[in-house]
Amino acid sequence: MLGSVMQVIRPFDPWKGPLCTCPRKYTLNPYTGCSHCCIYCYITSYIPNAFNCRPKENLLAKIRKDIRKIDRNVVISMSNSSDPYPSIERDLGLTRKVLRTFRDYGLRVLIITKSDLVVRDVDILSSMRSSVSFTITTMDEDIASKLEPFAPSPWKRVNAIEKLASRGIRVSVRLDPIIPYLNDSEKSIEDVISAVADAGALHIVTSTFKPKFDSWKRFKKAFPKIADKLYNYYFKLGGKVGSSRYLPLSVRRELMEKVRRIAMKYRLSFATCREGFPKLQTAPSCDGSHLIL
Ligand code: SF4
Repeated sequence: MLGSVMQVIRPFDPWKGPLCTCPRKYTLNPYTGCSHCCIYCYITSYIPNAFNCRPKENLLAKIRKDIRKIDRNVVISMSNSSDPYPSIERDLGLTRKVLRTFRDYGLRVLIITKSDLVVRDVDILSSMRSSVSFTITTMDEDIASKLEPFAPSPWKRVNAIEKLASRGIRVSVRLDPIIPYLNDSEKSIEDVISAVADAGALHIVTSTFKPKFDSWKRFKKAFPKIADKLYNYYFKLGGKVGSSRYLPLSVRRELMEKVRRIAMKYRLSFATCREGFPKLQTAPSCDGSHLIL
């Protein structure tokens, strides 16, 4: 049963967010917190000390216990509240051990990452039912280093896509978040989409920046002039879903349609994430899980 209480492999979004179009899936985070320290990250709103990444204790034993209870046909998403490839994964190899276990049980896995370290595990990923989703928000190294200070550079991610695709792994890209005045120009979006299409990605999922209290604070500190320009959009004209601020509907629609047009130009399938535009979707899933064979 998907809804049962489990320790580490848990139902994704048990609260059923009103705008979430994700298929039924589980989520597993081998780590608590994340070392990439992205300005826009939302995990700081619910994980104490979230940018101090630490491995989960006794993870493999807990996973084996949970596997007995789950629906084994349902995709496991790794990860939604951390990157499964933080810097310490290089030495610890915890995610690698988890993947081996999932492969042994024939489970289906969707990796979500910003790290080229995932290429290390191509031997396992190519011998199991898997797909990899890379988040890339910009190809501009200066902007990326401010937005995602400790994540591998965008070009490292694109090179990783190429390596995975050449080994038969089907890859999607999260162009997420789109932030007005920062990475929303036609050129910025096309730079990302053309690079990942050339590298062999098949699907784009995108979303606008939806700041919460703490991510807005970090954003304002890193990009004060842009934050000034966006303040009214988020806090006066836009809406609120849960504790996330949303841009006005018309602004979001225009941005999503722009990304869709460019994705289609490069023959990539398209979806949005928590935007409320399901009709713009051209793929069987928003999150790229349809790419798992
Ligand atoms: S990679 Fe994801 S979980 Fe990690 S800091 Fe960035 S947004 Fe947060």
